[in-house]
Amino acid sequence: MAGPRTYRPGQAVGGDYSITGTLPTLADVVAFKEGTAEFDHGYYRFVSHPRLRELEDVLKSRFHLRHCRLTESFEIALLELLICLHRPGIQSRFVILKEKHAAPPFADTAFLPACEREGVSVHFIESADQVPSDPGRDDAVIAVLRSADGRLPEPLPETPGVKFYVLGLGAQDAEHAGAVLSNADRVMARLADQVKRRGPILSARSADCLLGKGDGRGGLDAARRVEEALCRLEGGSRAFLYASGMSAVTRVLDLLRRPGRSQVVAAGHLYNDTFMSLRLGPNVFLGVDELHRLDGLVGDQTAAIFTESITNPLSDVPDIEVLSRVARAHGVPLVVDNTIATPENCRPFELGADFVIHSTTKYLNGRNDHGGGAVIVRDAEWARLLSDRQAVLNDRMSSREAETLEQNLGSLPARMCRFNENALKVASFLAGNPGVQRVFFNGLRSHRSHATAGRLLRGPGSVISFVLTRNSLEGLRALYDSPLPGIIKAPGLGSDKTLLCPYTLLTHYEDSDEVLDEIGLPRFLVRISVGCEEDITPVLDSLEEALKWPAE
Ligand code: PLP
Repeated sequence: MAGPRTYRPGQAVGGDYSITGTLPTLADVVAFKEGTAEFDHGYYRFVSHPRLRELEDVLKSRFHLRHCRLTESFEIALLELLICLHRPGIQSRFVILKEKHAAPPFADTAFLPACEREGVSVHFIESADQVPSDPGRDDAVIAVLRSADGRLPEPLPETPGVKFYVLGLGAQDAEHAGAVLSNADRVMARLADQVKRRGPILSARSADCLLGKGDGRGGLDAARRVEEALCRLEGGSRAFLYASGMSAVTRVLDLLRRPGRSQVVAAGHLYNDTFMSLRLGPNVFLGVDELHRLDGLVGDQTAAIFTESITNPLSDVPDIEVLSRVARAHGVPLVVDNTIATPENCRPFELGADFVIHSTTKYLNGRNDHGGGAVIVRDAEWARLLSDRQAVLNDRMSSREAETLEQNLGSLPARMCRFNENALKVASFLAGNPGVQRVFFNGLRSHRSHATAGRLLRGPGSVISFVLTRNSLEGLRALYDSPLPGIIKAPGLGSDKTLLCPYTLLTHYEDSDEVLDEIGLPRFLVRISVGCEEDITPVLDSLEEALKWPAE
């Protein structure tokens, strides 16, 4: 049931393959969060790129079904659908119709253990005659279809009882994708949300190739070269590229968590979607100033310790040396998301990390025109396990995305110098402005992580958060709705151009004051991701102008 489409005037940031879009006013932010308006462009995991919508529309009309969700691979589409349908504790039966003529064999023998790890059991059938004529309430019959020649699959003749179609699009050695199609409104809404949060989305560049608008072959060498470059930068031995930063986070968590050993100890306030994926379950959350409690919390049930070298959005710097000492003592892997620091500012392996994660969408690419993620490891056994899973799930970064990343990665050292310098100027300016009550930036002496940052980092990065003196919705509106020339009002970080967003409103819109207090996030927090502009003066001037109201 498609609702009315009222597009707001947000603009793409980053050109044809933009990964974020502007939210020009606070009313737009509210409309986005409340779902009262749709946006043509937005943050790539949350607002489908127009090219993805186009491909979805093609598939929906070909199959005469209302909903379509694209994912990065056929195997991932099937796995995500099974995870979405599976209700832990309830015995659900999944019947997968894999007609021989319609579906070239996929490695179901390798795929099944991946399902089992998620607690899902499936039963394959090979002919429509075997579809239960009256599927029970908890049965889900899924037909899988793939075309062998790279063309879009043809629908099956009417098969009553089939509730979901999972499609494989494109050829294995070229740009490819997975899709789930169905009329099940609620399941598909849940699936959409799950895919956004877990991250295995399709690249707009891949969608273009599948729509016949680009060459879908080649680019594999670029992926290999990017993997090698990331290993060199981080000091790792193997790197794996994924569709998004969240896809990289999800792969590592899925690999490490097992029944009986499923607890993750999170150190520091983590990026919202990482936090959300840990919110339910036996996980433990420790503030940066509570690490002395870590040793007593890690035990046999602990699958991993997870942290960010600089946290988003509060710029804390958890002491990775302390974390790695405890991790070693308990034989538990330490996972460090190094997205905000980048290897120019922090080398987590040198401090004892076992896994390093990046959203390559951010500083590593830095131009708002690429989406992706990476995991880097040093240990050969972890590398083998990640490699086996990637082979089974086929969840690689699109080679076209890898080509774009390769073009931009080389300038990272020069860009990071400028990011660090510009951010220090902006943070110092904000700290001295009467319109600002509090600034969160590890490069400032006043920040609780300043000393740790001095010991562990080579630079502070460029993510700054602040609270206004007029700490209210009206204060926030006055700042956000002012023109702010030289600053782009859009979610995202690590971009060459300065981006600003009302962080808590965007990420925790529905949370109560109690919840926000508990996680230490001010409701009207503003996050500014300072860019690497050659001259940062226009950004400073713009902030000065917008903060000119008389302080309350
Ligand atoms: N890790 C951190 C620290 C982030 O800030 C983000 C996104 O902002 C992610 C992971 C997720 O990356 P992506 O949005 O590319 O999936």
